[in-house]
Amino acid sequence: MANDHDAASYRPTTVAVTAGRPASEPDAPFSVPVTFASTYVAGGDVEYGRYGNPTWTAFEEALGALEGGQCLTFASGLAAAATVLDLVGTDQVVVAARHSYNGTIMQMADLEARGRLRTRLVDLNDADAVLAACEGAALVWLESPTNPALEVADIPAIREAAHAAGAYLVVDNTFATPVLQRPLEMGADLVVHSATKYISGHSDVLMGAVLTRDEELFKVLKGRRDMIGAVPGPMESYLALRGLRTLHLRVERAQANAQELVRRLGEHPAVGEVRYPGFGAIISIVLAQGALAADLLTHKTSLWVHATSLGGVESTFERRRRWKSEPATIPDGLVRMSVGIEDVEDLWDDLARCLDSLQ
Ligand SMILES: *Cc1c(COP(=O)(O)O)cnc(C)c1O
Repeated sequence: MANDHDAASYRPTTVAVTAGRPASEPDAPFSVPVTFASTYVAGGDVEYGRYGNPTWTAFEEALGALEGGQCLTFASGLAAAATVLDLVGTDQVVVAARHSYNGTIMQMADLEARGRLRTRLVDLNDADAVLAACEGAALVWLESPTNPALEVADIPAIREAAHAAGAYLVVDNTFATPVLQRPLEMGADLVVHSATKYISGHSDVLMGAVLTRDEELFKVLKGRRDMIGAVPGPMESYLALRGLRTLHLRVERAQANAQELVRRLGEHPAVGEVRYPGFGAIISIVLAQGALAADLLTHKTSLWVHATSLGGVESTFERRRRWKSEPATIPDGLVRMSVGIEDVEDLWDDLARCLDSLQ
């Protein structure tokens, strides 16, 4: 990395711009180029494209610097999650927030059905039950805020219970991003990201990441990535790093938009409930008139795009229960909104016009 003696003291916004850059020397490019290579000349550290790639390394340096750990990148968020769940030995117990991303919960259910592990799903709103469930666990999986219920976990308290049980604490930090929450600093052993979302930020990349401060865990996970091969492409890594450069600007703007929309949505009679954890740019609303109203809303807007996924510069939303896999504890009329970086007045005009028509 360029000028390491300065870099150590940089603040996060500067780190996002500078980390993972080539050394600063005459005619050096600002960005690490996209290296399309399946194989490398023998005798070095990499040797083969499943073991390493300089474009991944640049991305890993940058995200690692922002989260405060060592980073391994993966082909998707779920590839990262699968690699972490593989740490759990046969018949060991995984405690997980019941409203974690449904793809993660589906992986756990699949592993459980095949006798690979046992899961204890917990309600993050019941703090005592979460702490009690940690006893005897091998791994505790948190998502905070959860998707789409937007519950927030007490990470330090749960860390204590997890570590007392000898369990790893994993936090899926996709929603908060390192701009708003750094779980490794709070004692989590592992952070997981769907870099598909805010990290890359432009709805054009699928990628995941795992971060840790534990040298041993890092080696084990790197070994599993080498073996399983759930690695990202170099072009994706380049795009994700390019996106990461503006992470702070995007998150700050989207969050400011979200906070303004929360205020206005709370006053609209068509909206029965607004869920917002106080930070970030995901809002969940429950339409007063239920699922039909939610479907009407998501099909009537012109600026808000009806789409799954989140964390892009564009504002998108969907009724989550349109997915069969979404748990029944999520209200039928809940619409998850991923607020983008557009002008908030345009976002509100579009929403208000459609909400008014539901009256
Ligand atoms: C999307 C998402 C994932 C899965 O990531 P992919 O990149 O789609 O595989 C995991 N966790 C959360 C919180 C997500 O939103």
